[in-house]
Amino acid sequence: MASISLRNVVKRYGRGAKANPVIHGVNAEIADGEFIVIVGPSGCGKSTLLRMVAGLEEISGGEIAIGPRVVNKIEPADRDIAMVFQNYALYPHMTVFENMAYGLKIAKTPLAEIKARVDKAAKILELGHLLERKPRELSGGQRQRVAMGRAIVRNPQVFLFDEPLSNLDAKLRAATRLEIQKLHRELGVTSLFVTHDQVEAMTLAQRMIVMNAGHMEQIGTPEQVYGRP
Ligand code: ADP
Ligand code: ADP
Repeated sequence: MASISLRNVVKRYGRGAKANPVIHGVNAEIADGEFIVIVGPSGCGKSTLLRMVAGLEEISGGEIAIGPRVVNKIEPADRDIAMVFQNYALYPHMTVFENMAYGLKIAKTPLAEIKARVDKAAKILELGHLLERKPRELSGGQRQRVAMGRAIVRNPQVFLFDEPLSNLDAKLRAATRLEIQKLHRELGVTSLFVTHDQVEAMTLAQRMIVMNAGHMEQIGTPEQVYGRP
């Protein structure tokens, strides 16, 4: 687990006269183990912010730190983060176990350790009975849980969720939301969750960051942001 500091974070796409500023100096201190939702309309910069935390996007100004370490100075292989995307492809020819184990295998993790981590993730996600199946033999919700499993086995310090629910129908969305809450309860990993859906944001957030046109408009609990009824 780790805290996350956003210090006057700026992002411009392009350079010189063509530079297009999309994040205008965002400041936030996120505590160890917090579940933060970044909410705002399409195009306001949520994904860009998340991708900068992930080290997938260059930071144009300011600084992002995970724990004591500044993101742009961490080697990609040492980044203790895991990201869950809206569209993740599972490897169709691999079993659920192999899909979850793949990244660890590439990282040359010992087999006993791989098994222990996959078993732990499978238990949390209730995938234990499906480990030998192929993705095509799973429901959409089960596939989504495998994708989360791949993130969990990395033992990340930080989870980043980029609209992981938005391609699901209403029923599956509710179920997966509960799954994500359970995951956070059990592992307590610092999480950033991006969505344009205010209901989703209010339901999941311990605190929320409200973005608009590249500015952070508010940060606070759902009660603080929306006021009490
Ligand atoms: P959100 O996730 O809130 O929908 P994004 O972070 O995807 O917003 O985008 C913020 C702004 O940055 C938008 O105006 C978008 O068009 C622009 N943008 C996003 N990615 C790129 C890119 N790779 N190159 C240039 N502009 C981009
Ligand atoms: P693959 O070979 O399937 O891309 P690896 O586990 O070998 O997966 O990872 C390659 C790189 O991508 C590494 O730098 C790793 O940190 C990063 N990476 C892989 N999966 C994720 C994820 N879910 N979230 C964030 N980074 C990831």
